[in-house]
Amino acid sequence: MNHSKSEALHKEALEHIVGGVNSPSRSYKAVGGGAPVAMDYGKGAYFYDIDGNRYIDYLAAYGPIVTGHGHPHIAKAIAHAAETGTLFGTPTKHEVKFAKMLKDAFPSMDKVRFNNSGTEAVMTTVRVARAYTGRTKIMKFEGCYHGHFDQVLVAAGSGPATLGSPDSAGVPESVAIEVITVPFNDPEAYIAAMDKWDGQIAGILVEPIVGNFGIVEPNPGFLKVVHDVAKEKGSLVIYDEVITAFRFHYGGAQTLLGFEPDLTALGKVIGGGLPIGAYGGKQEIMETVAPLGPAYQAGTMAGNPASMQAGIACLEVLAQEGIYEEMDRLGAILEKGLVEAAAKYNVPVTVNRLKGALAVYFVEQAGQIVENYKQAENTDGEKFGRFFKLMLERGINLAPSRYEAWFLTTEHTEADILETIEAAEYAFSQL
Ligand code: PMP
Repeated sequence: MNHSKSEALHKEALEHIVGGVNSPSRSYKAVGGGAPVAMDYGKGAYFYDIDGNRYIDYLAAYGPIVTGHGHPHIAKAIAHAAETGTLFGTPTKHEVKFAKMLKDAFPSMDKVRFNNSGTEAVMTTVRVARAYTGRTKIMKFEGCYHGHFDQVLVAAGSGPATLGSPDSAGVPESVAIEVITVPFNDPEAYIAAMDKWDGQIAGILVEPIVGNFGIVEPNPGFLKVVHDVAKEKGSLVIYDEVITAFRFHYGGAQTLLGFEPDLTALGKVIGGGLPIGAYGGKQEIMETVAPLGPAYQAGTMAGNPASMQAGIACLEVLAQEGIYEEMDRLGAILEKGLVEAAAKYNVPVTVNRLKGALAVYFVEQAGQIVENYKQAENTDGEKFGRFFKLMLERGINLAPSRYEAWFLTTEHTEADILETIEAAEYAFSQL
């Protein structure tokens, strides 16, 4: 496959854009380097690079693209916004309509506020939790990503009760010490940390189904412990559903799993491919937000008519019957095909899948459990890097990191899945 135009563009990009990319995860650093493939356009489940190569897209822009590229219903909504005004700085009917749609899908949210990214949404839930509880510390789970604001760039932490240390330069120690990190799926560690910091934890940030070290579901009973102990200690439970909202069904992981968090952060899918974030929660808690209450949060672009109309259109598509069932059906075929192809060439893998999202881990023993960050970290990143490039050469575009999920869209067909399995068989045979 010829990538000469992508390579030339990357060289030029390096002169003007730091690292040549506008988000570090887009670089191929984690998969052995090289120029990231630059896309020209997308249609349905495919996108086409500037050298004219076609790829089946499993990156899905790191989650938001669930109805494929250029979906006609969403395209129409965006065109309408372009023609009638993309930004007014006033209330519009679109934001009210969209807020109602989100509330219907998320019964835990009495009130909603829109902003522009998942980072902003989560950041505000943390502020609101602090304002509401009058406490400063937050808890998060190891390996979970909640955006790039200071407080959540803390992932390290050995054992249940260690103070966090910053994961990024520029995050002060004084911020990191407000963040307690515990392993996911480890109720004992969580309880121990909640006991140790009793009365100090404002909120617990939870990816209810983890999408940032592959795909990891909560073990039975784990989230119940999270909720029960939080309630007992007066800490708020904050679900970060930036990836999970409308990814697995019409609604959030919370409705799928049967929980009601105090606060919820949304992003990605709900923008229909345009920038968006949103957060919401119980009436009493949301009343701490300005202009009603003392917790400040604002945004020039927040609730802009373009993102609102794209989001509404996206949810209208996703509300159609059978959409998620089909992604689940295709996901199951893909999972089975990948597992069998790997076995055929003696490549030990674990495939974690929930409906249309999956992760392939290169493990020591086929099928070995990956249910927390340490186990994900212990998988073979070098092998994943080689697999990624072999798949790319066969026209299958995965995220360039073993920690990112593969996402199906409503536009993937069984033929796409079979083509992917065939490519994987080749890739496994070359490892
Ligand atoms: N939370 C989760 C669970 C995410 O996966 C991400 C992005 N990958 C974010 C928050 C941040 O969202 P954004 O990149 O839109 O700021």
